Amino acid sequence: LENALRQSQKLEALGQLTGGVAHDFNNLLTAALANLHLMERHLPAEGTRYLDGTLTALERARTLTGQLLAFSRQEAVDPKVIDLGDGLRAMANLLERSIRADIALDWALPSAPLRVEVDPVQLELAVLNLVVNARDAMPEGGRIRIAVRQEEAPDGPLAVLEITDTGGGMPPEVAARAFEPFFTTKPHGKGTGLGLSMVYGFARQSGGNATISSAPRRGTVVRITLPVSGRTPEPEAAPDPAEAPSAG
Ligand code: ADP
Repeated sequence: LENALRQSQKLEALGQLTGGVAHDFNNLLTAALANLHLMERHLPAEGTRYLDGTLTALERARTLTGQLLAFSRQEAVDPKVIDLGDGLRAMANLLERSIRADIALDWALPSAPLRVEVDPVQLELAVLNLVVNARDAMPEGGRIRIAVRQEEAPDGPLAVLEITDTGGGMPPEVAARAFEPFFTTKPHGKGTGLGLSMVYGFARQSGGNATISSAPRRGTVVRITLPVSGRTPEPEAAPDPAEAPSAG
């Protein structure tokens, strides 16, 4: 109970802190990123090298403002029915840019549609946070696996999304607190302690759950379960095929 109280006090303080500032920053960063992505297409190859670092830095900044926004109560969640596999495929470029050359990104996405009702912006942030955590847990390189499958549960079918890494893992006392806002073991200036609590908030808000299974030297699995939606997705622009990795 004391934990829950501390957690809600922290959340409230953060909600007051963020508000308009994070919101305006997020919009400015989104506009800047969109323009830079357009610029990228028109630059000769040697120019895009310099642009890459800028994009990475701005995307990191947007992750941060997005995390803050997710906690500020002014942030409206905008759930949509989407195919989970498509949502992840659309992130392939962003994720590849967020890891390092000594880390392999493996995909195991279903070919059949698996519909969930989530805020696509929050889904993107959650997965990006998990991949960045996995990267940080593997300073000597390793593998990150993004897997999606359907499971039958007593209350109906679940979409299961697992992000697995081969990194250092967490001792039990870290795993127990990892979802807590502001809990971080990273050096000052490197971690906010907001990534996993955003992931947890996203899962719960979407009617699902998030769990961690981890042990020192055994790597980490973060598992998000979401109820499968029986509704059909709203018609929307098809994802850019150039962005999509192959399934399997
Ligand atoms: P941050 O990444 O800013 O520290 P998070 O809430 O995302 O905040 O994570 C909290 C803590 O949980 C991290 O500081 C780290 O100790 C631990 N952690 C999260 N993900 C992993 C992982 N994949 N492997 C090992 N430890 C992790």
